[in-house]
Amino acid sequence: MKSQPTRHQLAKAAQMEAQRRINSAAKDAEFVPCGACGGLVFAMGYRIKKLSRLATGQPNDMLFRYESYYCTKCGAEHVSAEAESPLLEGKADEAKE
Ligand SMILES: [Zn+2]
Repeated sequence: MKSQPTRHQLAKAAQMEAQRRINSAAKDAEFVPCGACGGLVFAMGYRIKKLSRLATGQPNDMLFRYESYYCTKCGAEHVSAEAESPLLEGKADEAKE
């Protein structure tokens, strides 16, 4: 008589299957070229927004950064993933006047 897999085991198996599919899809996918020059290598940068303390209700203004990529050949920004992948909240800066 077989014991039923636990929820945890099922979740883990589903996760492994998802990862396997992602790896397989990545192997078949093509590299995305720079829209401006066709370059294939990108470096990571950040776009930064300043959030007013008046808008956030926090004691200081804050910097909020978004990951972005730029072409190492021509410098064109590749993806503006703003609002789609906020990474980390920046540290509150010293808003002094
Ligand atoms: Zn380029």
